Amino acid sequence: MLGDLRRIAHSFAQEPSLDVALASLVADIKTCLGTECCSIYLAEADQSLLRLKATDGLNPLAIDKTTMRFDEGLTGWVAQREVPIKVHNAQRHPRFKNYPDVQEEIFSAFLGVPIIHRRVVLGVITIQQSKVRFFDQDEEAFLVTLSAQLASYIANVSARLKSELTSLEMDTSGLVLTGVSGATGVGIGHSFLVQTNINLADVSLKKSEDFEGEKSRFYEAVEATRADIIDMSERMSAHLPADALAIFDIYLQMLDAASLGNEVVGKIKDGWCAISALKIVIERYISEFEKMEDAYIRERAVDVKDLGRRLLEYLTTESSKSLPVPDSAILIAEEVTASMLAEVPREKIKGIVSIKGAENSHAAIMARALGIPAVMGLRDIPLLQLDGVDIIVDGYNGQIVISPNDAITAEYRDLESEDLEFTKLLKLEADEVARTADGHRVSLFINSGMGFDGEYAEQEHIEGIGLYRTEYPFMMRQRFPSEQEQQLLYQHVLGEFSGKPVVMRTLDVGGDKQLPYFPIVEDNPFLGWRGIRLTLDHPEIFLVQIRAMIKANVFTNNLHIMLPMISDIGEVEESNRLINQAYNEVSEELREADHAAQVPRPKVGVMIEVPSILYQLKQLKGLVDFCSIGTNDLTQYLLAVDRNNDKVAHLYDAYHPTVLNAIKTIADVTNEIGIPCSVCGELAGDPGGAMLLTGMGFTQLSMNTQNLLKVKWVLKKSNSEELKDLVEDALDCTRPDQVKFRVNRYILNIGAAGILRAGG
Ligand code: PEP
Ligand code: MG
Repeated sequence: MLGDLRRIAHSFAQEPSLDVALASLVADIKTCLGTECCSIYLAEADQSLLRLKATDGLNPLAIDKTTMRFDEGLTGWVAQREVPIKVHNAQRHPRFKNYPDVQEEIFSAFLGVPIIHRRVVLGVITIQQSKVRFFDQDEEAFLVTLSAQLASYIANVSARLKSELTSLEMDTSGLVLTGVSGATGVGIGHSFLVQTNINLADVSLKKSEDFEGEKSRFYEAVEATRADIIDMSERMSAHLPADALAIFDIYLQMLDAASLGNEVVGKIKDGWCAISALKIVIERYISEFEKMEDAYIRERAVDVKDLGRRLLEYLTTESSKSLPVPDSAILIAEEVTASMLAEVPREKIKGIVSIKGAENSHAAIMARALGIPAVMGLRDIPLLQLDGVDIIVDGYNGQIVISPNDAITAEYRDLESEDLEFTKLLKLEADEVARTADGHRVSLFINSGMGFDGEYAEQEHIEGIGLYRTEYPFMMRQRFPSEQEQQLLYQHVLGEFSGKPVVMRTLDVGGDKQLPYFPIVEDNPFLGWRGIRLTLDHPEIFLVQIRAMIKANVFTNNLHIMLPMISDIGEVEESNRLINQAYNEVSEELREADHAAQVPRPKVGVMIEVPSILYQLKQLKGLVDFCSIGTNDLTQYLLAVDRNNDKVAHLYDAYHPTVLNAIKTIADVTNEIGIPCSVCGELAGDPGGAMLLTGMGFTQLSMNTQNLLKVKWVLKKSNSEELKDLVEDALDCTRPDQVKFRVNRYILNIGAAGILRAGG
């Protein structure tokens, strides 16, 4: 049964046309379950109507014509109740409704299973039989499993259905796709795809009129792949027996014009672009092989897949290599990384679209730091669908508009100018330090690391760097930076901010921050080898970094070292031991060169971002000089919501009363034991969040430079006593939306409504 399920789902996903895919799906299900009828109904955009889209057993003329409301008939009932429904004699059931067009009089037994994707009903699959009986458990389980597997494929094309398109062939003009907001603002431009690890499943079919061009692209990819295979075969010949080497011959034969090559060219002749033609042919081969009884032949599907992947790699890299970065680029990638952002000139990037990720993924944090509108988590969209099109990134609503028409573009241009006006207003008060209306001072620091924020050092209202993420410069290199390279980099930052504190965090990789030259593959990366756990296991990396920091600090003495992901006191003690060792060694080294050398001892602090440390806060006394709350991780760990997973993005919320209560506890305990505590997670840079934190008693907030003026503006309009009341109210709430309602109401009362659209 598992094999059937996999085969049916696979062949559905590879069909180029939705109508054809649905037609073969119902036929496959009918054969597999031995029923007399199988049909599929899909929900219309407004979620109140189902339309018959395919049937094997009912009147085919009713396809696309027969519709039913969710509150009509048995099929509507399945959609309405969102559960599988079995009826032994449908005609006698009180919910039965006769639709003469479908001609179902002969059927009695009915089983309907809803197709649901992310809580939204996309349609219903039904099977029917003339015998009066209940479909059994196995039949029900089969259909439920299949429906769950198909849901995301169907969701993928339902957006197109909304635009009245019935084919998977791309025509996406004006299509609005929704993800989550990564950074606010509007970006208008042309897509610039950065591809890594693309596979055939990601390819959406596209036509091309350039037959000759597409054909020669394909032939070039074949030749390059052929050369690779010959090369591989030669290299392996010393290590593999002759029968094993035969596989390379099979690959070469498959590449021959008479085999796969001709078929692909045939599809290109039919008008498909080379990549689409490859997808159609390879996926058909895979499906044919997978259907075979003979296990050996079935296994060849893997080889075809591999060959297809190799050809695709050449076809896609060739096309992206030849593309220059457009002047107004919307950078699109499976997962946007620091190095991708570094490779494209900042002024050219107007927007970012990351297929993976959510609001507080590091890609989103980087986008906010750079002030580039971003949308994350468009998971169900094949990457190549976004290639070569104009795109608007609406970072306010977490949406993108593909190939917008002139009217839509004009609306977004208006929004862009409003943004510029608001920024001008904020800049009028840029130089003042942050103070509430009743004179309560709040020190604002910046989060840095992505680029160099030297220009902010001079600005008086910026009181220092509250978080320098040292991992970003590590991520942009091809190897670990040496001690000297690090020293120069840190010296530069400390020097620019001389006279102001700079909090440098030790290397915090793992989770969604990967070093290209030190890959970490884990099942649960956010619960795994991250931050201090990794560097304590590699003292050579930790010691080199600390030594570089201490040396860099000799002339400026403004360094604070901060340890990430601390989850117990033992880690603090071990880190302190290593920091002491590095300090003593560096002091000795420098005194050897100059007897009078004074090496300042940096202050050492910890990030409070792992819940376990909340219960050991008092034991930090005497061990650290300061601490800073990382609300991004604290939120994910307290709520058990992966900050990088768009499927649970709606559950990730730093306004959750549980998170706010935890932060208030940290404020109270650190105050009691006399350890200065700041906040450097994204909540501090969210205007509403900054108001709540100020109301809790925090006087040091660190945020990205883009949000600093917004935070200062709302604080200036707030009253510190009223903020305390607001916090009391928020801590008693049960849900994040209740907190947001109260915060927004206060923002409206103080006349700061402009900030609500400008967002954080
Ligand atoms: C945090 O977790 O809140 C934080 C500031 O660190 P990062 O986002 O880099 O994990
Ligand atoms: Mg963190």
